Amino acid sequence: MPDSAPYTLLIQHAAQVLTLAGGPATRPLAGPDLGGWCIIDNGFVACTGDKIAAVGPMSELDQTRITPATQRIDATGRVLMPGLVECHTHLIFGGNRAHEFERKLRGESYLDILASGGGILSTVRATRAASEEELLANALHHLAGFRRYGITTVEAKSGYGLDRDTELRLVRVARQAGRQQAVRVVPTFLGAHVVPPEFKDAGPRAYVDFLLREVLPELRGEAGFVDVFCEQGAFPLDVARYYLEQAHHMGFGLKIHAEQLHDLGGCEMAAGLGAVSVDHCDYLTPAAAARIAQHTQGRTVAVLLPLVPLFLRQEQYAPGRAFIDSGLPVALSTDFNPGSCPSKNLWLAQSVACLKMGLTPKEALAAATLNAAWAIDLAADCGSLEPGKRADLLVLNVPSVAEIPYWLGENPVHEVFIGGVMQ
Ligand SMILES: [Zn+2]
Repeated sequence: MPDSAPYTLLIQHAAQVLTLAGGPATRPLAGPDLGGWCIIDNGFVACTGDKIAAVGPMSELDQTRITPATQRIDATGRVLMPGLVECHTHLIFGGNRAHEFERKLRGESYLDILASGGGILSTVRATRAASEEELLANALHHLAGFRRYGITTVEAKSGYGLDRDTELRLVRVARQAGRQQAVRVVPTFLGAHVVPPEFKDAGPRAYVDFLLREVLPELRGEAGFVDVFCEQGAFPLDVARYYLEQAHHMGFGLKIHAEQLHDLGGCEMAAGLGAVSVDHCDYLTPAAAARIAQHTQGRTVAVLLPLVPLFLRQEQYAPGRAFIDSGLPVALSTDFNPGSCPSKNLWLAQSVACLKMGLTPKEALAAATLNAAWAIDLAADCGSLEPGKRADLLVLNVPSVAEIPYWLGENPVHEVFIGGVMQ
């Protein structure tokens, strides 16, 4: 688009425009930059087609580019900000685990329920039994829910098939769901979620060898990232390292579920292999976080999932404040899944991150937008309001960033635009 192209969409008179701009262009926001980004009072965002064309205070609006065809939206008294980026979900699954909720309330632990054949394995049974049409209908239902919360990009992991055909089906359904509605879907392969019953005797190493041989070659160009659950009862550190190394050689980006329930060293291991993100981190120590920040030069993002310890009744939350102070970039996500977080409310996740992990409202917002985009390697295209990025925009029912995490559990979304189109 030439710089003189007429605006197709103009959102104007916003009380605050939360730009998320002003930090380094080549790496995620870290340290003081996480909360140091620019807010414009009484501002606008103008778009041409599906891209942002200009952002600024009303005094700098180029009136010559407004035509009768420009869709004009008044945001007086409201916040205008980029769409939320949800960088860690288990979107595609059959059934749900409402029946385990009361077991949890009676005191059974996550790992106890998993060891008794429940937990992830119960969702695996329901997912294997579901048709592709049912899985797609479920995914579209959940994506519509995410969109209502103002989430405009969703990462979606496989991992409830644990056999070749079902895992490939889950990635296929994620891609299909992305094509059928406006929210962008980014598939990740989590075949190494837990060891399936068929490999119980052969063990985790034999199972990941099967994935490397039979499944990953089918996923080139279909899933950008390979993820593994490094935890007691799932995959031990040495097997997780071997698997991620091999996946890296095959050209996949790397992610890991680590330090969720124990400190096994998974985050530091994966960051050392160049992982784009290390996720959970509730038991990651501040000292290890500082080493990761230094060794990766601030490129690996720690994805914090505050609704998971809440839902699992766990006291230990990731020490987000210490991570930020040590220079480790952090992102926030719900971890939407049927077992440990059946919530799509990324606003609530921001509130809990403030209350239990020590983030400020501005830091939490950056963690759920620009740094979440970094965690799925899409920061060049979304997560902030900057010319050239995709026009994913939210108009909120609140006048300032301070009120966003304050109205606990509310959905502040007034209007959602994806690619410049009102939803
Ligand atoms: Zn997860």
